[in-house]
Parts: sequence; C-alpha cells; structure tokens
Amino acid sequence: MADSKDQKQQDTMEKIVSLCKRRGFIFQSSEIYGGINGFWDYGPLGSELKRNVKDLWWRSMTQEREDVAGLDATIILHPKVWEASGHTSTFSDPMVDCLLSKKRFRADQINPLSGTAWFWTGATDAESDKVCNDKFSMLQLPGKDANWVRKGATQFYKARGLQAPVLQGETTEQVTNTTRYNEENGSLLTEPRAFNLMFKTYVGPVESNDNVAYLRPETAQAIFTEFKNICEVSRKAIPFGICQIGKAFRNEINPRNFTFRSREFEQMELEFFIRPDEVAAQFGEVPDGEAESEPQPNWGWKAWHLYWLRKRLEWYASIGLTSENLELYWQKPEELAHYARATVDILFKFPFGTQELEGIAARGNFDLSQHQKFSGKSMEYFDESAKAKYIPHVIEPSAGVDRMVLALICHAYHEEEVTDEKGKTETRIVMKFHPRVAPIKVGVFPLLKNKPALVAKAREVLAMLRPYMTVFYDEAGAIGRRYRRQDEAGTPFGVTIDFDTLGENEDPSLKDTVTLRERDSMKQVRVKIDDLLHLLLKKINS
Ligand code: ATP
Repeated sequence: MADSKDQKQQDTMEKIVSLCKRRGFIFQSSEIYGGINGFWDYGPLGSELKRNVKDLWWRSMTQEREDVAGLDATIILHPKVWEASGHTSTFSDPMVDCLLSKKRFRADQINPLSGTAWFWTGATDAESDKVCNDKFSMLQLPGKDANWVRKGATQFYKARGLQAPVLQGETTEQVTNTTRYNEENGSLLTEPRAFNLMFKTYVGPVESNDNVAYLRPETAQAIFTEFKNICEVSRKAIPFGICQIGKAFRNEINPRNFTFRSREFEQMELEFFIRPDEVAAQFGEVPDGEAESEPQPNWGWKAWHLYWLRKRLEWYASIGLTSENLELYWQKPEELAHYARATVDILFKFPFGTQELEGIAARGNFDLSQHQKFSGKSMEYFDESAKAKYIPHVIEPSAGVDRMVLALICHAYHEEEVTDEKGKTETRIVMKFHPRVAPIKVGVFPLLKNKPALVAKAREVLAMLRPYMTVFYDEAGAIGRRYRRQDEAGTPFGVTIDFDTLGENEDPSLKDTVTLRERDSMKQVRVKIDDLLHLLLKKINS
C-alpha cells in the first residue's frame, strides 16, 4: 500500500517534469549538448510564472510597505565579504556530515573503524502510510548490541518524518578500517564534500590567487555590506528592512528533485533590522512571544520573528498555498547555526517529500558585527528615538524563487476525468494556478478562424485586455481543444467570441456579449464585453 503510494508520487513527479517540458515551463539547460546537471531554463510559460512570483513578493515586501527598501547588488562581491560571513572557511575543506547528529567533520580527520556495519534500504511508518526510501547504515560500536544499532536507525527515519519507523531491508557486513562512520555514535557520514560550495572565478586578466572571486552563494550578504549606504539615503529609521531578489550559485554536490536543488537559482531575501531587546525595553515590556498587533516600538526579536512568519504565511495564502500544503518546522536548538536565536522553515508538501521553501531566521547581530570586524567600518546605528547607539539585530525571511515555482507547479497539477457533450470520457490535465500567479490570465478565442467578423471582434477584445493582463490569442483547431491547451497552461479564464457576439443569432440581447469560461469549474457564462475587463481584474485579484 505504502509502496504503491510512493510509486504514484514518483509517477506524478515524472508527469510534472514531462508537462513542464512539453508546455514550456522548464527545460534542462543546454539540452542540445546533453544538458548540464543542476541548471534549468524557464520557457515561455515558466518565465511568466517566475516573474509573477517575484513581482508579487517584491510588491508585498517593499512597495506596499513604508519600512522596507529595495536593493539590486552585484553577483560578484569583494572576497572579504565571504570571509566575514564565514562562507570561505565553512566550505573550503572536504567535509562530511553525521547523518544523525548533523555534526560536521573534516573528512581527513576521521579515524578508521572496523566492525559490523548494518544497512537498511528504508523504512515505513506504522502510524501512517508514509515511506522513506533513504538508505541508511550504522556501525555497531564496541560494547553495543543490535538493539542499539536499530535504535540509531529508528532515530534517523524519525528525523525524516516517520512517527513509528519500521526498518526495511536490513543486512549486515563486516568492514575494516572504514572512515564512513562517526565514532561518536556509529552513524553513517555523508560523502565528503571535497570542494568549496562557492563557484570560484578570477577578476581581471590574471588567474592568480590574488584575483580569486566567488559567485555569491546567497543574496543576503550584499544587503549587509550596503546597510550603511541605505540607512543614509533612504532616511528610514530602525526598525526597517532591505530586500533583494537575485541569482545565487552553489556548487551543490548532489543536485536533485528537478529544480528543487539547483546549482544556479534565485533567492528573495529580506534583512529586517531591529532594536536589540535591551533597547526595545525602553519603550515598554518586550513581548515574549506572539504579538498579534501591528509593529510596536517595544518589540524585541521574538515578536518580530513571529510577525514575519505571519506576514509570510499571509503572502503564501495570497498565491494559493495554505496550511493544507505547507508545514512549519522550528529548528531544534542543536540544529541552529551558532549565531541564530531561532529559525522556522516553511516547508511544502512536494510529491518527493515535505521540503523547505523558505527559512525565517533571527540572526542576532552576527552579520553586521562580522562586517564591522572585517572591514574596519562601523556598522553602528544611532537610534534617535531611543537615544541609543547599537549594531542592529536582524530577522531574515529567505526564500527560493525556483522552489516556490516548483511548489506552485506541483500544487497546480491535476488530472481529472471529464465527459464531453457526446458522452466521451477523457482525462483532463489542468494546472490550477491561482489567477495571481498564472502565466497567462486569459485566452481569447474566435469560434471559427475563417470568419473574418469573428476574428476581428476577437482581436478587438484582445486589444482591450492586453494592456492589463497577459492574454493568449488562439484561433487554431476545435474550441474544445483550445480550452484543453489553456487548461494545461493553467490559464484561469477563456473568452470565446461567437455568432451571438456578432448579433447574428436569434437573441439580439446577446450582441456584444462573450462566453467566459472558468478553468477549474469549466462553467461558462455570458458576459457583456463592456463588463469583461472589470470582471476579469476582480477575479484575478480576489
Ligand atoms: P537546504 O537546506 O535545502 O540546502 P538551505 O537551508 O541551505 O537549504 P538557505 O541557505 O537558508 O537554504 O537559503 C534560503 C533559500 O534559498 C532556501 O529556503 C531555498 O528556498 C533556496 N535555496 C537554497 N539552496 C538552493 C538550491 N540549491 N536550489 C534551489 N533553491 C535553493
């Protein structure tokens, strides 16, 4: 049962990947040369969808707020930036991670071990139909028994979302002098990351160590380096934020799950600068948790962190992703980066598992302090109303555009059995995008392409709508086929111009009306051309 569900999810993913290619959402980069692993191109529909996601994020994060300013910084920054942020040192040695404790070790410092190695092919859940097909292995450490090893494996599958893991495919093998296990707990280690995750390049004509630079692995750091400039020019007072959308590059060891883990991707990041709690306390008691109201001067990091979580969830709901499709994961204290006070991840239920779309971190004042240290430039801020000088703390909602687009595509994908007027049943593939993000908002169709009056009227309607929304004009083939094509593209509305529109049928009251078809319900209603624009705009934004 669980296996068949798993197979179904895999099939769904394959169908989604194939639809993405067939309909021009996403192609493999450089496909004519066999492709390049971890790089993807967005086709005509995909680029519209992606643009909509970015535009909606930008609008909600900056244009609709008085306390956030935008930035568009370079991809290559001074290499010192990455020293200050910790990226150069964190990624520069071959590293392995313990799959249980998440502790990271230098691969060349692992002590060789011998003993019985236990292997599992995966686990099922006794309390749900969840399955995890991740392979895992433990080394039976001296003095430990089979129960101890299985306990370790159970912990591993619990961390992957199974409540009561039932281990599958157990085998054992004697191993000698292996460096694949953690001597502290017997857990398997990841493969060594023998290279820097940052893409390296050289600035200028000489390929020397002095000229090494990196393609940014995140957009956030440029925001910190521009903090002082933006403070000055934007005349914004803390609390305020700076946000940016742009490319980031990570030489991921194992790109996978379609675009989910790519080597080139886009991020949408906000750094929201706030008062340290002790300064906020001057304005009243600092709330210790959720503060439902709008921002207050006495808010410390906890209230701001929860505020941004709420705002981000409201935004997800506005593009059709709700608690039905999303999950929150609060990182445990031992999982947090050393400077982070709290991080909550917003996860989406992908067919390949529930995975991170966005992280919202309370990062203290780590980043600005580091840049102050490495650049020698003060990052202190004078707070007029608090009469205090401090290095601001920061809340960082950081989201991936490509993961968001993939989540929207997976969420939209539906297969439905439909029966036509002649009683014929067929499978309709329909992408149920929220109209706000849909690549094309409306399809315009003259009923017949060889009737100049119909075509002329359809073109009039097209010209009326085009300044306000993305419109697709299609006159080829039977009208039912045209509807189906737009269903696959995720176009929420279709407008058909027929003989009633021209006033050529019996009912003269239908002159200058069109058929408006809704993608999801497939219902059709007659609408006056004069009312069409207003009605569509209302439906797109509702
Ligand atoms: P993961 O643990 O999945 O690698 P992360 O915690 O390292 O992600 P962050 O550094 O917090 O990710 O980056 C913020 C966001 O950028 C992520 O939530 C994700 O949406 C996006 N992102 C990060 N790495 C990738 C990638 N390789 N491909 C696509 N998107 C990514």
